[in-house]
Amino acid sequence: MGKIAEELKKRCGKEISLCDNRELYYGLLALVQEEAGKREISDGKKKVYYISAEFLIGKLLSNNLINLGWYDEVRDVLAANGKDICQVEEAEPEPSLGNGGLGRLAACFLDSMAGLGLNGAGIGLNYHMGLFKQEFEDCLQKEMPNPWIEDKSWLIRREVSYPVRFGKLTVHSRLYDIAVTGYQNRTDWLHLFDVESVDEGIVEEGISFDKEEIGKNLTLFLYPDDSDEAGRKLRIYQQYFMVSNGAQLILDECVRKGCDLHDLPDYAVIQINDTHPSMVIPELIRLLVERGIDFDEAVEIVKRTCAYTNHTILAEALEKWPAAYLKEVVPQLVPIIEILDDRIRRKYEKPSVAIIDRQDVVHMAHMDIHYGFSVNGVAYLHTEILKNTELKEFYDLYPEKFNNKTNGITFRRWLLHCNHPLADFITGKIGSGYKKNVAELEKLGTFDDEASLKELLAIKHQNKLALKHYLMETQGIEVDENSIFDIQVKRLHEYKRQQMNALYVIHKYLEIKRGKVLSTPITVIFGAKAAPAYVIAKDIIHLILCLEKLVNSDPKVSPYLKVVMVENYNVTKAEKLIPACDISEQISLASKEASGTGNMKFMLNGAVTLGTMDGANVEIADLVGKENIYIFGESSETVIEHYAKADYVSRDYYEKNEDIKEAVDFIVGKELMELGTEENLRRLHDELLKKDWFMTLLDYESYAQAREQAYKDYEDRMEWAKKMLVNISKAGFFSSDRTIEEYNRDIWKLGKDEQDSKAE
Ligand SMILES: *Cc1c(COP(=O)(O)O)cnc(C)c1O
Repeated sequence: MGKIAEELKKRCGKEISLCDNRELYYGLLALVQEEAGKREISDGKKKVYYISAEFLIGKLLSNNLINLGWYDEVRDVLAANGKDICQVEEAEPEPSLGNGGLGRLAACFLDSMAGLGLNGAGIGLNYHMGLFKQEFEDCLQKEMPNPWIEDKSWLIRREVSYPVRFGKLTVHSRLYDIAVTGYQNRTDWLHLFDVESVDEGIVEEGISFDKEEIGKNLTLFLYPDDSDEAGRKLRIYQQYFMVSNGAQLILDECVRKGCDLHDLPDYAVIQINDTHPSMVIPELIRLLVERGIDFDEAVEIVKRTCAYTNHTILAEALEKWPAAYLKEVVPQLVPIIEILDDRIRRKYEKPSVAIIDRQDVVHMAHMDIHYGFSVNGVAYLHTEILKNTELKEFYDLYPEKFNNKTNGITFRRWLLHCNHPLADFITGKIGSGYKKNVAELEKLGTFDDEASLKELLAIKHQNKLALKHYLMETQGIEVDENSIFDIQVKRLHEYKRQQMNALYVIHKYLEIKRGKVLSTPITVIFGAKAAPAYVIAKDIIHLILCLEKLVNSDPKVSPYLKVVMVENYNVTKAEKLIPACDISEQISLASKEASGTGNMKFMLNGAVTLGTMDGANVEIADLVGKENIYIFGESSETVIEHYAKADYVSRDYYEKNEDIKEAVDFIVGKELMELGTEENLRRLHDELLKKDWFMTLLDYESYAQAREQAYKDYEDRMEWAKKMLVNISKAGFFSSDRTIEEYNRDIWKLGKDEQDSKAE
């Protein structure tokens, strides 16, 4: 018996064959935690701190086993005892610490930092109930708490606690750590702060709770409802709690290593992930002054320590807080922010670059740009739009600060873990060098002989069969593994245009009804959570769920078309959906999706993209060439012009195109009205006709054409397999290892000293 088997038996306290899946999960968790601890290496001089409101880390067991190099042995040990590693994985709850792409990116980045041997850490909050768990009831989204912390979990309680002072109270934090094992490398830590006074008992129906009970609610939920004032203030409480703890931890660590605080930038670099952690800037200044540094010098130190990542050009996400809220919640920061603002006003005349505007509202991104040394966008197009349009006034002031870091994904989770058959296929063709050096993936492109392509198709088929079983088990929906799996999974937002996809589904439904049958059936899969207060997004979910009911129960249509709305889309579900996808829907309105990372995961797993020239789709198109991607729709320039001129009128498109008119009106037709709720359907119909802020109808016609073309091309299986192969072989660029190497090269600049290629 191997060492792992023996150790596992010891942790479980009995024979492996006598353990149930939960016991095995806990046993493996303990084993992995011990090993991860051994691979911690003492910090080098300079360290990067990645502060983020979200870390959408997903389940950790398998990923850790892969990174430690234990996966195969554990799988075999379990199998030898009649156990299935996949079943053991099922016993693990998914941590609910993130919302979407931004949080998943933070998780991929931690994996790459550790895998590259960088001295780094994540800093965030330990939300007990997460975002929310999505349930469907009467074709509507219902939000429920998503508790995920068990007695035994990946969280390690530390003897670290800091006081955090608010206007009306002081709380004492508690640090929990999660080990981030690097692939064949060191362990870094994700530091999650919590308060011990949190009371899960105050959660009432659904996800509502008393927002004023700060001591009890501070770390209950991620993004608590901010549609009222108490909710908005709670977000400020959370943000300050996160950054104050983070700043205290950073200063303590640096001092312990011999930093005298004058030289802080030699010891620490802080990456501010979107604007949620922006208050780290005034908080660090405050703490430095408290520790004896002169105010002016503190400002200069912080300027050389902090770097900001912008994730979106949607105004809603560029946070602004009324100064009055800050005065109540964090009064000690307000005089500092006022001085920072005053200095900007003295230097620059334009009121639009001020930190505090005339309405006494504080613009967090402005503070980040003026008082950080780097501003980066997350895809080529996004950064160009920041420089030339959205943040042009700032770019004119500080061209040297702006840089691009195209997002990436960790191949450990999004290939090695989620798609074993494909990973084995690749290894069989080009060896395993690509696991550490993703550039080698290009070599796969030469394996376009018939036998290899057939293997590739067989792997896709196998993954589709697995998804078919999963959908039957979890949602009781039967799909045809021989149909085309056309998938759109991502947060629900009008700019991502799930509604455009739904309109096409309606169009197809009607065509089939009229007798135009398909040579290859189609399965359209959606998965998306809508923010609890986002009314139209929830209406779109309602439409999709009504369509699911209508289409799947229609005996004439359902042999050709199926609709599936996956409940509670999260990382675990993504890992099952993505390997089975044929067509990846990336159909945002050009200029609105900063990057996307779902698009990269799909490409890596052999799906072909149907998308607009937006975000990282632009770079995907560049890499694979136009024969291997389906691009449609207006360009970002045209879209930006429409907004500038305010000349887009959705009704014109509706009147001009019979298909559009028919599909849009179907939303309030008798078939759907019978299944759904009039209020939701009518509101959505009105929105499309009278407003359509994200220009769904603008691109509908070219979208439908491109989609038809993709379906037609799918019929030639060999030609399609070639497209799959090209997509996989060109995906190396989108490894988060590449992204993190660029962050380090251009922003963090951790020297060789802080990089260890191997753990001891
Ligand atoms: C990758 C990922 C996202 C981001 O998807 P986009 O298509 O880039 O918006 C969101 N949620 C989960 C669970 C993911 O894994």
